[in-house]
Amino acid sequence: MEKIKMTTPLVEMDGDEMTRVLWQSIKEELLIPFIDLKTEYYDLGLVHRNETDDRVTVDSANANIKYGVAVKCATITPNAARMSEYDLKEMWKSPNGTIRAILDGTVFRTPIIVKGIEPLVKNWSKPITIARHAYGDVYKNSEIKVPGAGRAELVFTGEDGTVLKETIHDFNSSGIIQGIHNVDKSIESFARSCFNYALDKKQDLWFASKDTISKKYDHNFKDIFQEIYDAEYDGRFKEAGIEYFYTLIDDAVARVMKSDGGYIWACKNYDGDVMSDMVATAFGSLAMMTSVLVSPDGVYEYEAAHGTVQRHYYKHLKGEETSTNSVATIFAWTGALRKRGELDGIEELSDFAGKLEKACVNTIEAGEMTKDLAIITTNPNPKVLNSFDFIKAVRTRLEALL
Ligand code: NAP
Ligand code: MG
Repeated sequence: MEKIKMTTPLVEMDGDEMTRVLWQSIKEELLIPFIDLKTEYYDLGLVHRNETDDRVTVDSANANIKYGVAVKCATITPNAARMSEYDLKEMWKSPNGTIRAILDGTVFRTPIIVKGIEPLVKNWSKPITIARHAYGDVYKNSEIKVPGAGRAELVFTGEDGTVLKETIHDFNSSGIIQGIHNVDKSIESFARSCFNYALDKKQDLWFASKDTISKKYDHNFKDIFQEIYDAEYDGRFKEAGIEYFYTLIDDAVARVMKSDGGYIWACKNYDGDVMSDMVATAFGSLAMMTSVLVSPDGVYEYEAAHGTVQRHYYKHLKGEETSTNSVATIFAWTGALRKRGELDGIEELSDFAGKLEKACVNTIEAGEMTKDLAIITTNPNPKVLNSFDFIKAVRTRLEALL
């Protein structure tokens, strides 16, 4: 078979540890034999980030904006232990945080559904996508531990001298206070990313917050979503036969549990953090969760939802066998290839992405899987494969589909 040709390069962001090892193997076994793979390569491995004073992360994000589609391997976010392990010049920031700040995006996470890995919620027959706002709220807070009696106030001083003031609480004794913020521009981006993604996927969009209690803060999110929907999306949603609706977060949680899935659930930053772990776990495993960052002007960055699987990497370095699940990383590649195919009008490329995904699903459904899935499958006789044999098993099934 002739290799599939690409016209625009994918921005390839390599990463760290076990996922870096899998990355190479995925390219060699599942991509390069079938595609004339065109990528612009950025090494986001911690060694190279340190060598470039993290310049490479910024360059890769700018390349992502230039070309539109990137695929990213999991990367280490340095902490104290990594400072000495990698002899770092600085405790570099999380690459995901840097890329998000440059792209100003929303993170969409969707579980990969296979027979034999059954959701804990038995009526969930279709995937639920969580759309998480990735800016502000409690993640950019200011906090004070109040030592004793006194007045806590919320004060805004405008550039023109306007002062807005609210009493938070008159303390009689010790306690705590917290200040959080968000900006309309970021909420507007979040709303547009969600509406565009819903149109792209032809799925309903739910958004929920606690506007009955938070009459200004959460209400502002609700109002911005509604204003943008009415002005820009109402017609397009009707045309696509999909729906947008807002409800209270507690009502949303109850409805999600009773639903059969198949929609996008937009969440504020903290709600998305918590709910995406709940949804991933209830669908089976973090290793079966895809993740894509979408900017309001349609720039896409695909990755796996899990980390670099450090514990497996240390085993690998000692020459021990590992059974690391590469499915979410493979789906990061297929997501990016499909999008590239759509944008460049290369149907073969999008088709190939679909077949590679099907090959992964077929392999697991035939009972061949990595250890993380073998311990939760309803298949009575799973065959546990090591990291590399799993990728080879996917290749066999891919060749049969091509
Ligand atoms: P992790 O890499 O997600 O792994 C945590 C545990 O989850 C593993 O030890 C493993 O459990 C299981 N697991 C995760 N992915 C798996 C897979 N593909 N196949 C099989 N098992 C899997 O999280 P971490 O160990 O907390 O973090 C390691 C590094 O990743 C950190 O340096 C962190 O900064 C980074 N990180 C990066 C990203 C990102 O780039 N998107 C996200 C999160 C974390 P068992 O050990 O029980 O088998
Ligand atoms: Mg979390």
